[in-house]
Parts: sequence; structure tokens; C-alpha cells
Amino acid sequence: AAKADGKNCARVYAPALDENLHLRLRLESDLRQAIEKEEIFVHYQPIIDAGTGVTVAVEALARWSDPLHGHVPPDVFIPIAEMSGLINAIGRQVLMAACQAMRHTNLDLAINLSPAQFWDGGLLDDVRTALEETGFPPERLELEITESLMLRHPQRAVEVVNSLRALGIRIALDDFGTGIASIGYLQQFQLDRLKIDKTFIAPIEHDAKAREMLVSITGLARACNLEICAEGIETDGQARLARMAGCGRLQGWLFGKPQAAAAVVNMLDDAERPRLHKLKTA
Ligand code: C2E
Ligand code: MG
Ligand code: MG
Ligand code: MG
Repeated sequence: AAKADGKNCARVYAPALDENLHLRLRLESDLRQAIEKEEIFVHYQPIIDAGTGVTVAVEALARWSDPLHGHVPPDVFIPIAEMSGLINAIGRQVLMAACQAMRHTNLDLAINLSPAQFWDGGLLDDVRTALEETGFPPERLELEITESLMLRHPQRAVEVVNSLRALGIRIALDDFGTGIASIGYLQQFQLDRLKIDKTFIAPIEHDAKAREMLVSITGLARACNLEICAEGIETDGQARLARMAGCGRLQGWLFGKPQAAAAVVNMLDDAERPRLHKLKTA
């Protein structure tokens, strides 16, 4: 594109591109080291039952802090990990750490899968190993995939989803509505849950059209026998509207930001604690 704009433009943009490339390569090699030193850690965001307000699940979210780069958000390092083949190692570490951290609770555990992980032949083994080594019950594990998977090789994607579900775990479709998959794909895939993206939740208090859209999406999910989780709930009003629209689970800053495992466990209802304690000392 720079070329088409003429030589001057190319000269203007070249240094910026160089810097970006340099930063990316730097991040990549530092990320590789962080993985080797097991410095990628996991935070957990509570997910509540919309009917009872009780925390019933957490989503595991990868975190990376580095003395040089500071806190690097996953939206930055996950794509780098994807491009450089590091994502499988990160995925395995997150899976293992999260199953380990949550096995003594009775919470469901949601873990993100990126496309490169989804298509990797080793995924099934990684999941099986994590379940076996930690003793985490498969029925409490949910893997989150995104719409983009459905487009590339829908038939093979269906097979991967089915083989994962055969382990007894569940599959959620993350960021629903932000991708370009047609709703027809919902019929082909055996999924368990739709996670409605926060961009659909953000305007619902002030925009009647957005509310109607949310109601349509939840209707669609019900027609496909899918449970529904609304992401990005920040206000009481959003929580109320999402519940009224039929979202069974709610996730967002209103209920808690992603935080260390111990902090989430401490936050659990008192009713939950005796059970946790018993399990821990058993
Ligand atoms: P996601 O899976 O859709 O995760 C939800 C994101 O929304 C998280 O961002 C979370 O911190 C943020 N969030 C939660 N509640 C609210 C809210 O009320 N308001 C707003 N504005 N944001 C909220 P985070 O942790 O920065 O992660 C970003 C994305 O990075 C994730 O989106 C996921 O796609 C990816 N990611 C994170 N951890 C992993 C991982 O272990 N593996 C893979 N493959 N991807 C990951
Ligand atoms: Mg997610
Ligand atoms: Mg999401
Ligand atoms: Mg996302």
C-alpha cells in the first residue's frame, strides 16, 4: 500500500514499520523465555448464575508481566504467540494451572482456545492429560472457541468439537456476534453455550434496538438448545436486562475483575466455603 502511495510515503512509513517489527520480535523472544520460565500466570474472572447471583464458574485469562514491557495484555501477546507457534505451550500451561487451581472448588472452569490450538493435533491429548493429572472433573470444564473456526474447514471443525465433547467437556462459542460466521453454522455444531460479546451488552441500557437484538440472540440460542452467558456486564441495569433477556449466566466487572485464584476463592459465598474447606483438608 505504501508503494502505491508513492515513494515519499514509503520513506515516511518504513521506520515505523521497522520499529513495530522490532518490537514484535522482541516481544516474541521475551515471551518465549517467559513460557520457558513458566512466568505466564492465570487470573480468574467470576461468572454468576443470573437467577441466584451465586458464582458458579470462572473464566481463566492468561497474564504476562515483564520487567521490561510491564503488563502485556493478552490481546497483544496471544496473537504473537499464535503467529510464532508459542500458543500451544501457553495453552498447556494455562490448562494445567487452571485445572489445578480450581479442582478443589465446585466451580465450572472456562478456558479460551485460540484457532492454532484448536487445529493442533495434540489438543485432545493435552486436555486429557490435564484432566488426568489434576483430577479435574471433565463435566466442569468448558473450552471457548470463536466463530472464525467454523469458516475455514467447517466439517473438520465439527469433528474436533465432537471429539472434545466426547471427553465429557463442554464447548462454548465466545464473542458471539463479532465474527462473520453465519447463524447456519450453529445448526451444524454441537455446542453447549453461547457467550454474547460485550459489544452487544454495552449499549442495552440506552438503546432499545440493542435490547431487541439481545432478545433475538437469546431466542436464537434457545432454539439451538444453547445456554447463554452475557459478557461485559458492568452495571446493575445491564445485569437486569441481560437476565430478563434470558441470559442464564453473567460475567463482567460488576461481579468481579479477573484476579488471582486465591482472591476468587475467598470471594465465594459463605455457603460455599465449608464445602471447599472440607475438600481441601480431605
Ligand atoms: P475473552 O475470552 O472474550 O475474555 C473476556 C475479556 O473481557 C477479558 O479480557 C476480560 O478481562 C474482559 N472483561 C471482562 N469483564 C469485562 C467488563 O465488564 N468490561 C470490559 N470492558 N471488559 C471485561 P482480557 O483478559 O484482556 O483477555 C482478552 C482476550 O484474550 C480474551 O477475550 C481471549 O480471547 C484472549 N485470551 C486471554 N487468555 C487467553 C488464553 O489463555 N488463551 C487464549 N487462546 N486466549 C486468551
Ligand atoms: Mg473467553
Ligand atoms: Mg469473550
Ligand atoms: Mg475475545
